[in-house]
Amino acid sequence: MKSINNAYAGLSGNYLFSEVARRVSAFKARRPETEVISLGIGDVSQPLAPAVISALHKAVDEMARPETFRGYGPEQGYAFLREAILRHDFLPRGVNVSAEEIFISDGAKSDIGNFQELFGEDAVVALTDPVYPVYEDSNAMSGRAGTFRNGRWSRLVYLPCTRANGFQPELPETRPDVIYLCSPNNPTGTVLDRESLTSWVNYARQQECLILFDAAYESFLRDDSLPHSIYEIPGADEVAVEFRSLSKTAGFTGLRCGYAVVPEKISARTADGRTLKLHDMWLRRQCTKYNGCPYIVQRAAEAVFLPETRQQLDAALSVYRKNADLMLDAFRRMGLSAFGGVHSPYVWLQTPENMPSWSFFDLMLEKAAVVCTPGVGFGASGEGYARFTAFNSPENTVKALERLEKAL
Ligand SMILES: *Cc1c(COP(=O)(O)O)cnc(C)c1O
Repeated sequence: MKSINNAYAGLSGNYLFSEVARRVSAFKARRPETEVISLGIGDVSQPLAPAVISALHKAVDEMARPETFRGYGPEQGYAFLREAILRHDFLPRGVNVSAEEIFISDGAKSDIGNFQELFGEDAVVALTDPVYPVYEDSNAMSGRAGTFRNGRWSRLVYLPCTRANGFQPELPETRPDVIYLCSPNNPTGTVLDRESLTSWVNYARQQECLILFDAAYESFLRDDSLPHSIYEIPGADEVAVEFRSLSKTAGFTGLRCGYAVVPEKISARTADGRTLKLHDMWLRRQCTKYNGCPYIVQRAAEAVFLPETRQQLDAALSVYRKNADLMLDAFRRMGLSAFGGVHSPYVWLQTPENMPSWSFFDLMLEKAAVVCTPGVGFGASGEGYARFTAFNSPENTVKALERLEKAL
């Protein structure tokens, strides 16, 4: 086949995690007797809540009887789930979205990766640096990112998030069409406060930009005064799409369920000046290319949003929160500067004495047999940082931190 999408030829390999895996297996081959502990994993470790498991069993049994069997469901998701989300995630926070604006999916990664299909080829995309790689790569695959040189795409606008600006991205000097924001953030673990998020919404309204807001870690917020949804900011329903996921909040990384909120109020202009609703474009896209999240998974997801399940979900979340607290305490005792970790399962550690990310990674592996993720792998502004995750077991987290304290 000769006529391929050339943009794929310009992609860099998935260097970060394959390089981490390569260095870890080389270490294990050299030191087979040493137990390696990973604080680099981005996957949950606690099992699904009992209420989710019983909803799954019940839904499976429904599939066995002709009178309760379900075939194709609505592409946008079942009303029972969309309404449960509305009642649980939005109405209590005074957010006025409607069930018709909620689109159920098999997870936030596919929604985020697919959404860029709605943008023009020449749309200018802005993203934070460091960043969750899906925003960058999905635009690169569509040929919208230009060419890749020295770690950056020529047509993307990078918004550095560093210690100097408190990890709050500053408004860009030139106007982008689309802005990706993620709060609580992966990888920095920091949060966009209400003031910062308000300035982004106001900017997007003035400049006619679209904000894609990734709230995959929303349930890690510990302070109720922080915005959980971008729609808590007045006017956001005219300029922002929000992505949510049950992966990190309810352990659905293997089960797969997420959703996107695409408000009816967001309009998009065609080259010849006509207006289309972004909501209708996304509905059209999903109806054509997607047949919906499995019924049994949507029933399991519904259980996540029942008030009585809250306590069960909090049990898993509190394991991750405690691990993050332990990490923050240990790093501070060691005299290191650590960020995030309060409203997030990620701790963003500034390496001692400006050590490059990969040198720090090697040092941790050699001296402590602990794996972290080099910050530079998430973008140029991540150089000099490393990401530690709270997803390992409490025992392993404690053991890893003891080893790090000895090594440093
Ligand atoms: C894990 C994660 C997601 C969620 O992905 P799923 O496909 O729902 O598992 C989305 N955004 C960020 C930043 C993440 O880290």
